[in-house]
Parts: sequence; C-alpha cells; structure tokens
Amino acid sequence: MSKRRLLLLGAPGAGKGTQAIRLVEKYGIPQISTGDMLRTAVAAGTKLGRKAKGLMERGELVSDDVVIGVAAERLAAKDARSGFVLDGFPRTAAQAAALADILLELGSGLDLCLGLTVDEDAVVARLLKRAEIEGRADDNEDTIRERLRVYREQTAPLIDYYRKRGLLTEIDGMGAVEEVERRIEEALGG
Ligand code: AMP
Repeated sequence: MSKRRLLLLGAPGAGKGTQAIRLVEKYGIPQISTGDMLRTAVAAGTKLGRKAKGLMERGELVSDDVVIGVAAERLAAKDARSGFVLDGFPRTAAQAAALADILLELGSGLDLCLGLTVDEDAVVARLLKRAEIEGRADDNEDTIRERLRVYREQTAPLIDYYRKRGLLTEIDGMGAVEEVERRIEEALGG
C-alpha cells in the first residue's frame, strides 16, 4: 500500500513547507499546516488569531489545546480521508499523542514521518532570506533564534518518538529543493 498519510518533521526553515507543496502536487493530498491556518486566523482577526498573534510574533508556541483543536478539525475534513501531509504539527509530545488519538478515532494512522535534517546555520540563513522575500513577522533574527530553541527543546524529541514507533525516515534536507524532493520520493517508494 502506498504511503499517503505523511508528517514532515524538522526545524523551522528546514524546507517542510516547500516539500509539502510538492507532495500536494504529486499525490493530490492536502497540506495541513497549523502555521498557515494560524496566520490566516491572525490576518482575519478572529478570536483564534487574537490568541495566537503575540505568541507567533515572539516565536513561542501556541497552546497545545488550541492547536490540537485546529488540527483535529482539519484532519476530519473529507479531503484528508485518504491522505495528507502534516507540516508544523505536531510540535510537542502532547500534540503527538493527540494526533495518534485523532487518527485512531478517524480509523487511520500515520504511514510515515519524514524527518528533514539540516544544520542550524543554514536554517538561520534560509529564514533571514525568507524574511526579505515574504516579510513574515516572525522571520527576524531574535525570533528565529527563539523558534530554533523551542524546536530543540520541544519538537526535536519527537524524532525519537516516531523512530521508536518505526515510523521515522530521516531525509537529508540540505542541497537543492529538487534533490531533497528526490530523496523524499525514494523514501516513499517512488
Ligand atoms: P510555522 O509556519 O509552522 O513555522 O508556524 C509559525 C508559528 O505558528 C510558530 O512559531 C508557532 O508560534 C505557531 N504554530 C504553528 N504550528 C504550531 C503548533 N503545532 N504548535 C504550537 N504553535 C504552532
């Protein structure tokens, strides 16, 4: 059976979003990015957005409860039934446990976690460049350092969590976008 319930795990700036978009195009599965959903909420000025705005600007995490609710609702949508690529969720142990519960409830489970590995200096350089191009409010150097610290402390342990469950494939995230894409394709069995 082909793997279509996917999770991209990696530091901010590792290329999760870029690779997620390619998987969307290739397999016709939706990208589920809690970061994108939160940015939409902030732009729309919803209650969720007002809750998330300051935390996002400082590079801190939005609370597990809030993010889990957002992800659960999105995963239950019809277009996510036969596959999806999660990007930026889960980010904490509590979120990973909640994800397993959500998928169990939906009668499915994760097929594969793709762990994108990159070195930190490269990531900082990428994010600073993205700041120039996209003008994201959380792409200034202080916030970038904070997001990387939060990643190391709260999210990096999920690499082991998925390894222990036999779901992890590590992907070298350095190099050209197409190269990384090819490595992912290989991991998915072509
Ligand atoms: P991203 O676009 O995935 O880098 O997310 C941007 C920001 O949104 C993060 O720095 C957090 O403030 C918030 N965010 C996105 N996803 C999550 C999550 N799963 N848990 C907590 N906060 C999140």
